[in-house]
Amino acid sequence: MLAGMPKYARVLLDDSGGRAFDYEIPEALSPAVGSRVRVPVRTRTLLGTVIGLSETTEAGGVRPISELVGNEPELSPQLIRLAEWMADYYCCPIEAAMRTVLPNVIRKAEVGHKVRLVARLARDMSAEEIAALDAKAPRQADVVVALRDAGKPMHVTELCEACGVAHQTVQAMAKKGLLVVESEKVDRDPCARDEFVASGKLELNEEQIAVFKRVAEGVDAVCAAEQGSAAGGKREVKPVLLHGVTGSGKTEIYLQAIDRVLERGFSAILLVPEISLTPQTVERFKSRFAATHHEVAVLHSHLSDGERHDEWHRIRSGRARIVIGARSAVFAPVGRLGIIIVDEEHENSYKQEETPRYHGRDIAVLRGHLEKCAVLLGSATPSLESFHNAATGKYELLRLTLRVDDQKMPFIRIVDMRLEAKKSSPILSDPLRTAIESRLAKSEQTILFLNRRGFSTTLLCGKCGFVAECPNCSVALTFHRGAGRIVCHICGHIAVAPGKCPSCKDPGIKYTGIGTEKVEDAVAQTFPKAVVRRMDADAMQRRDAYRETLGAFRTGKIDILVGTQMIAKGLHFPNVTLVGIVNADMGLHIPDFRASERTFQLLTQVAGRAGRGDVEGEVVVQSYTPFHPAIQFARHHDFDGFFEQEIEWREKMNQPPFTHFVLITIRSPHEGRAQLSAETLHRRMKESLPPGVTLGDFAPAPLEKSHGNFRWHIALRSRAVLKLSRALRGVLDRLTLPEDVFVVVDVDAYQLM
Ligand code: ADP
Ligand code: ZN
Repeated sequence: MLAGMPKYARVLLDDSGGRAFDYEIPEALSPAVGSRVRVPVRTRTLLGTVIGLSETTEAGGVRPISELVGNEPELSPQLIRLAEWMADYYCCPIEAAMRTVLPNVIRKAEVGHKVRLVARLARDMSAEEIAALDAKAPRQADVVVALRDAGKPMHVTELCEACGVAHQTVQAMAKKGLLVVESEKVDRDPCARDEFVASGKLELNEEQIAVFKRVAEGVDAVCAAEQGSAAGGKREVKPVLLHGVTGSGKTEIYLQAIDRVLERGFSAILLVPEISLTPQTVERFKSRFAATHHEVAVLHSHLSDGERHDEWHRIRSGRARIVIGARSAVFAPVGRLGIIIVDEEHENSYKQEETPRYHGRDIAVLRGHLEKCAVLLGSATPSLESFHNAATGKYELLRLTLRVDDQKMPFIRIVDMRLEAKKSSPILSDPLRTAIESRLAKSEQTILFLNRRGFSTTLLCGKCGFVAECPNCSVALTFHRGAGRIVCHICGHIAVAPGKCPSCKDPGIKYTGIGTEKVEDAVAQTFPKAVVRRMDADAMQRRDAYRETLGAFRTGKIDILVGTQMIAKGLHFPNVTLVGIVNADMGLHIPDFRASERTFQLLTQVAGRAGRGDVEGEVVVQSYTPFHPAIQFARHHDFDGFFEQEIEWREKMNQPPFTHFVLITIRSPHEGRAQLSAETLHRRMKESLPPGVTLGDFAPAPLEKSHGNFRWHIALRSRAVLKLSRALRGVLDRLTLPEDVFVVVDVDAYQLM
């Protein structure tokens, strides 16, 4: 390569507002794209990432790179490309995108590997030599024998314990030349305490075979590249959307697809929603791959810096070839990527609600395209976006329509609460109460679902009409009876629950509305002999509470489990034959074009918890709008029917997936400045946005005030989202706002409040 040697590197500096400069490459260094470097900036030295290499530069006064951090580039060119794309698409600073791709603990290069001391014999010792040593120093002879028997180096602490000697003895033996003591890297393994029993593959049923065949063909096509050749040799295949009803065996397909990828010498990423990243899920994967001695790395938001550091390096070095994690695991530094699987792809938690506001599933598809690897999206209730992509041929659609072992779909009964609530209670209608009774009689288990925690939702004075509102947010405070507090679910503001009206001092203060705490209370009163437990963010504050409660439920120690969406996802309990949905309308009447879709998904997912064993399951759905399409289609397990009706409406209303929805939030603790800034921004956009963009009015957000900030919204829609993002960036760059006004751009927004 004559012309090939680059002389300059473009370096994106950390924490500098996205500035990149050219630096000269000293002869001794050979950085690559993705290398971390230290470079001089004025009088200081800063960390940065090499994002490009070139033979020429137009910049003047170019200085040399000071130092290369680490032997290998921390990021692949594909991941850098992904960060650049993310900044462009989501209209966020490149800095923020890079921070997401490269975790802080790696960027800062401050946390190192954990080391421990190991000892080994310096040389072979004959039996005579050992006997001679034994006569002089029997303890030392013990150490020698222990190491000889072990046949490999031993951890010094363990060695000392085994032989009953002090550390000094080992050090002294090292000095004498009998032993070699050295330090060794060890991983901080977040699952170190658990043991995994290897489990084998299941024999697939007919439907699974057909699905697996297609998935395997895709995997084989992308992994066909010769051993050792880079991504260049791979062929691109379409992403696959796997629509499989709950309990149809999708996870088994994931397991076998990953197995195939490993066999071909490639690696895999599996994304699961944070909420279902339970020990149960992780265990299932670790056990399966324990059989083939493949290491699984787990990434989630509760890892310590040290654990994250080690998991990251385990992946980067290629030791762990399977990565399971929540949304940010889509950026895992996996080398030879064969497949990215997104389980429950419809889940909203894949969307990050802070900058960069990326969607993990969309990034998975893009990364799949960049790395030419297979992408498999799975769900029992695919998002309208993904299903539309399948309908238009962008994705390949595969289906599993039957539950494994021919279990029937649960029978769903809708209870019209407009009639029931009058004669019974708004929490337990007669049909639901009777259904629970019969389960208790048969020692079967019940799940009761309500997506709102707390005891009651509003504290209302019947006399003067006073409602306890949060001082920082425009919402009513929720009464938590157990804690005797009223709490804001937006900002966490907390106050002692008053005994009488704070306004007119009337003692007849009322708590209205229902939360999980009240459901638990009502159920315990109705069924005094039953064991009732609650599972929501309040009850699960202790670290192990979640694990314990699930364990107790699985072993049948709990009869009725009351909970929020925490219990809606992916849990398997064969003895649960009844699921009660206390109020199915909760999510329907909110100003969000996805309200129907979410309700349909939630009902279907919750219903899927019923009847996973030998007994057929039943679901009782309580609703004040029993004929709402989302409820009716869910009742008939009719995804296609729901999709057809909903997609027609979305098209008519020019909503996603037919357009991209961009939501701009302007907020300020100062009411007038928030409004004025929204007005100004709106005017500027009107002047300079490209054609094809629908610009909505500026209006107060549904949640007008939050954390003491006044909030305004401007909604935009466009088919060409990149054009819109770039135009927006232009407008925002030219706009100067008062210091206390913040603007947030959310591309493909999910959170519309
Ligand atoms: P899903 O992910 O679609 O909800 P799972 O993969 O979790 O479904 O499967 C549901 C249950 O059926 C699990 O307990 C799983 O072990 C079992 N299962 C899946 N496939 C098979 C099969 N081919 N034969 C026997 N059991 C299976
Ligand atoms: Zn608040």
